[in-house]
Amino acid sequence: MAIRNIVQLGEAVLRTVAKEVSDFDDRLHMLIDDMIETMIDADGIGLAANQVGILKRVFVISLDLEKYYEFVNPRIVEYSGSEIFEEGCLSILGVKGNVERPSKIKVVAQDRNGKEFDLDADGLLARVIQHEYDHLNGVLFVDKVVGETTKVEG
Ligand code: ZN
Repeated sequence: MAIRNIVQLGEAVLRTVAKEVSDFDDRLHMLIDDMIETMIDADGIGLAANQVGILKRVFVISLDLEKYYEFVNPRIVEYSGSEIFEEGCLSILGVKGNVERPSKIKVVAQDRNGKEFDLDADGLLARVIQHEYDHLNGVLFVDKVVGETTKVEG
């Protein structure tokens, strides 16, 4: 596994729609393993492939470093509720802002071997899934901030 460089705001790859994955091969598995290591190294809780410069519909999440989620070709098929919560992004360091999102979702996705699964999520997990899903479509949280963004240390 290897830590990859995290692309920062201003790079076109963050504004480009990622492509569906069709090959569930060693290259994909290596990408996912590297993304997990990169996310952990950066103290993040989610990372999309666009953020390491790869235009594939893949993201990884871990809220607690115990449970790891891998999503390939995800689709959010149900939304409900609404919640405002502060977000940040490993590609926009030093900026935080409040974003309103649905509070409950259902996602259908594939795992690294192409097997389809679905997941009902709420709370922080639902939020992070939607944040990472946006990355796959070239959308960033700063596009959705309610009110002002705030500058933070680090
Ligand atoms: Zn992000």
